[in-house]
Amino acid sequence: MTETTQTNVDQGELSKFSELAHKWWDKDSEFKPLHEINPLRLGYIRQKVSIEGKQVLDVGCGGGILSESMAEAGAIVTGIDLAEKSLKVAKLHLLETGRKVDYRCIAVEALAIAQPASFDLVTCMEMLEHVPDPESIVRSCAQLVKPGGYIFFSTLNRNAKAYLQAVLGAEYLLGLLPRGTHDYAKFLKPSELTRMARNAGLQVQDLTGMTYNPISKQYKLFDDTSVNYMMSCQRSEA
Ligand code: SAH
Repeated sequence: MTETTQTNVDQGELSKFSELAHKWWDKDSEFKPLHEINPLRLGYIRQKVSIEGKQVLDVGCGGGILSESMAEAGAIVTGIDLAEKSLKVAKLHLLETGRKVDYRCIAVEALAIAQPASFDLVTCMEMLEHVPDPESIVRSCAQLVKPGGYIFFSTLNRNAKAYLQAVLGAEYLLGLLPRGTHDYAKFLKPSELTRMARNAGLQVQDLTGMTYNPISKQYKLFDDTSVNYMMSCQRSEA
């Protein structure tokens, strides 16, 4: 049974991902950007915390690009999403790679009630911009991590440059992403995500940008957080 007891879901968004689900592991597909940024974000996480042997939760895991890479690096990973088709693809892919990830179809809010404070590390990447109430996701992530544990978010900033690059550029000019992938109104300014994190009892440790160079066709980590950015947060010890 699908453990979807919450309503913080945009069914249109889930359908978009379900329709593309068979392509999660095709590195030349719509998911190419996620494959390309994955080594950067994994490196960022590992630079901040040791993940080997740690209980890690990947929220909005999709086909498991980040989940699998963390499992490969020695973490004990649980991946949750509400798009069943994506989870099926994620599970099938484990048969090919022999890696281990516990994939579950459950809302993060429901998991936070069932298993509070049970993960050393929570990741929630490229997901907040697809839900109606991102603050509820941030709060649940904060409840799921153990005191002193870390949470890593990534999302898109909301300003004219982000609109030009992430919507007009990536979806219309460069065709990196299907049109309609992103809803500009749901992008989050770092100040807004910071406020949500603090309201949830988290301390923001770091903010780093990920920039795409359309000439070299490469992403890199950078101080510039004006379009894509990652935020690392820590739950207080007490
Ligand atoms: N985090 C993955 C996938 C990002 S794509 C990565 O970065 O590689 C966004 C994912 O969020 C999709 O898999 C989509 O199904 C999922 N998603 C959207 N709304 C959700 C919700 N309310 N709860 C859980 N997952 C959700």
